[in-house]
Amino acid sequence: MYFCISICKIKKETKLFPKNSKTIIHMKYDLIVIGSGPGGYIAAVRASQLGKKVALIEKYPTLGGTCLNVGCIPSKALLDSSHHYYDAVHHFEAHGISVEKPTFDFKKMLARKANVVETTTSGIKYLMDKNNIEVYEGLGSFEDKTHVKVSKNDGTSVVIEGTNIIIATGSKPSSLPFIKIDKERVITSTEALKLKEVPKHLLVIGGGVIGLELGSVYKRLGADVTVIEYMDKIVPGMDADVSKELQKVFKKQGIKFATSHKVTSVQKNGDTVVVKATDKKDREIEFNGDYCLVSVGRKPYTEGLGLEKVGVQVNERGQIETNNHLQTNVASIYAIGDVVQGAMLAHKAEEEGVIVAEFLSGQKPHIDYNLIPGIVYTWPEAAAVGKTEQELKDANIAYKSGKFSMRALGRSRASGDIDGFVKVLADKNTDEILGVHMVGARVADLIMEAAVAMEFRASAEDLARICHGHPTYSEAVKEAAKAAWDGMPLNA
Ligand code: FAD
Repeated sequence: MYFCISICKIKKETKLFPKNSKTIIHMKYDLIVIGSGPGGYIAAVRASQLGKKVALIEKYPTLGGTCLNVGCIPSKALLDSSHHYYDAVHHFEAHGISVEKPTFDFKKMLARKANVVETTTSGIKYLMDKNNIEVYEGLGSFEDKTHVKVSKNDGTSVVIEGTNIIIATGSKPSSLPFIKIDKERVITSTEALKLKEVPKHLLVIGGGVIGLELGSVYKRLGADVTVIEYMDKIVPGMDADVSKELQKVFKKQGIKFATSHKVTSVQKNGDTVVVKATDKKDREIEFNGDYCLVSVGRKPYTEGLGLEKVGVQVNERGQIETNNHLQTNVASIYAIGDVVQGAMLAHKAEEEGVIVAEFLSGQKPHIDYNLIPGIVYTWPEAAAVGKTEQELKDANIAYKSGKFSMRALGRSRASGDIDGFVKVLADKNTDEILGVHMVGARVADLIMEAAVAMEFRASAEDLARICHGHPTYSEAVKEAAKAAWDGMPLNA
């Protein structure tokens, strides 16, 4: 529908562009954004708010990119549904609630997830309309430094011109060279979000955020889950205490872990999948399951863009190279989100979208990559902002640490969510907060208190002296900050 509207509007200003396209239209914009994920659509909205004439190109019929369609939103919908079920089975009784053997309808769960996705993606359509952003459905590819061809599935195409162009084409799941993803038994996160049944035994290759979140979903729904991880700990990028606590709690929940295991082969035999790996002692270990989720990371996606045509530089990891303003080596072209370096996170992509739109409008925006929170939406949740202890050690920064256990909180005991802690790391000399790490109920939301404090360069004492509501999980932040500041938490 949007494509028709666009073309109808465009025809008024039609000018021929001499390429092989069946539909030859030339429309000029201040900004063209390629890709409608959180990076792309937010860049388009911000640029439009600042008075730019904007076009957005998306190759799929629904807007929102990985995040809304096959990432953040559907995974959180399934995490929430499976969490309710798990609570009903394992926790209701402790609250004095009895339900006759709780059951679940997996089809209905998936339908709810699809509905959440649909509502969210249509919200983006609404935003595009509201902000007068012209949406083109089709594959965007460079004709030259200011012209992009949009090729539709039906063979028609249009060429549009932009003074500036933002590449926001995101990422795709990556794999290991010897693994054949058949999308049925050997799957990526995309298929794991729409399986027809709950696996009996899900083998998860990769103990990162996506593997743990989806592993948790199926564990809660009754599957055996084994996580096979190359490194000696799960979520290796997070603070070591967070990895340790998460692994301890997941083990209690029944998830099995094989850390320090290097996967060497993945074979599908009918309905079974055999994963072979070598352990620390170089012994070959075999894992048998009925599904294998390969969650070993994601790779930047630039296929079909025709970057070579305009000479945009890409590094050896496939990321588009940019300067501090997210500008590529071609002055008119910028790149943001998963397709450039940095954390592959929706909120990082969004911030970059805003930054570029504002920069192109003559503003001097700023982004602090140190303050982008990282979150794991399992239960308990894990969240972090700033430096880990290891990073501070590596950088020879003298620091002090304050930790407060969730089980010491009245709020945690009331809800029954006693696992986890908050840890505040502060500069030993100045008391400035350098990093905050958390495991516990709702820490995905709680982490923002730490991010705000750090944005304003608060000290641990500042945080410790702020009155926190009682009883709340946030009291753990205050107590950990006090522990870091003067070593004397009040409730421990
Ligand atoms: P994308 O969202 O990948 O969007 C890129 C868009 O560009 C796509 O729609 C694609 O179709 C389009 N495109 C590509 N090439 C072209 C072309 N040539 N022409 C036209 N269109 C094109 N992040 C979080 O912050 N929180 C989470 O909880 C979270 N959970 C996740 C769970 C899963 C299972 C997965 C897979 C990811 C998750 N992520 C999460 C990561 C998050 O989804 C990405 O970081 C985010 O989507 C990146 O945004 P982006 O705008 O850079 O790209």
